[in-house]
Amino acid sequence: MKLSRRNFLKLVGAMGASTFLTTCKADLVKALEDVKDYWHICWLNGAACTGCTISFAQSADPDLVQILTEILVGNSGLPIALPDYMETIHVASGTLAEELKERWRQSKRAKILIVEGAVQDEGFCTIHGKDFREHLKEAAEVADYIIAVGQCATYGGIPGAKPWDGEPNPTGAKGVQDFLYEVGINKTVINIPCCPAHPDHIIVTLASLMLGVVPELDKYGRPKVFFGKNMHNELCPYRPYYDRGIFITKPGEEGCRFKMGCKGPICNTDCAIRKWNNGTSYCVETNICIGCAEPGWPDKFSPFYAEVPELPRVLGVGAETIGAGLLGATLLGIGIHAVRHLGAKKHKKEEE
Ligand code: SF4
Ligand code: SF4
Ligand code: SF4
Repeated sequence: MKLSRRNFLKLVGAMGASTFLTTCKADLVKALEDVKDYWHICWLNGAACTGCTISFAQSADPDLVQILTEILVGNSGLPIALPDYMETIHVASGTLAEELKERWRQSKRAKILIVEGAVQDEGFCTIHGKDFREHLKEAAEVADYIIAVGQCATYGGIPGAKPWDGEPNPTGAKGVQDFLYEVGINKTVINIPCCPAHPDHIIVTLASLMLGVVPELDKYGRPKVFFGKNMHNELCPYRPYYDRGIFITKPGEEGCRFKMGCKGPICNTDCAIRKWNNGTSYCVETNICIGCAEPGWPDKFSPFYAEVPELPRVLGVGAETIGAGLLGATLLGIGIHAVRHLGAKKHKKEEE
């Protein structure tokens, strides 16, 4: 099978990123050889724990060494994802590192900017004597494509969470897209959330851009091919347990994790079929989904171990429509439980 640009993302969607990469790697590599020119990548770090870099470094099939050395783009002789600038892996530091960044900015070839980490208010994050906001602005202005990786860079994530006393976040941490709009840069950011971002998502997104396929995005800027399906409704292997009312209350038992607080019903992600650590398992297999692919996480998804009000089926409202504000809607939740309770009573009466 020859991998055409046209069916590239279709295949990824149909097979899942992991299966696609395992099954079609040779085709992907071949397709990348047709790419005419090398793409320059700049990977910036804002308010982050660097876990997304680690996740990227743990990519498997292709692994990081293959990504950085073997999977070459076009006839450039250069690998697909060898960033021109990436603090964590390049040996340059100080002024020399800043020169690498400037060289990336000046390059006449296609440029991709990858951002890991949230954008804080002025004064909270300084690199080489310059505020991170300035670094980001300068890079975003010249980038052909901008990819935010991880929950911090997409929607603010943990750096943007409220302190324990419920006061607003003192650093004003926000996602890259929000920051760019704030400073008047109207470029679309491709958001690859999760904490951390999945390496498959990063690699396939990079490859698709290089192949000339811009992923279709949902209203939160996420590629639909990875985040277009609700885990609970369409992908979770434990769904049959949910439908039969078999719920568990602690990890290790067999059944649906809904009553443990699983956020699958309000989370759009392909984690259930893609899995993590080279397809070993994913959060729900060992515990619950805490919803890290969604905007508003973690605040609007906590407490993590509280049951999600069962809105989607009871009121016929799609989980995606309900969005990230659901967990904060206590009164609504109480109302829903009341509806469920009434529904159950009515059902019992009809049976009688
Ligand atoms: S998204 Fe998670 S793993 Fe990635 S930088 Fe933020 S806190 Fe770390
Ligand atoms: S609640 Fe969680 S474990 Fe249960 S079916 Fe939905 S996604 Fe799966
Ligand atoms: S299963 Fe849920 S908590 Fe786990 S990575 Fe996916 S979206 Fe995040």
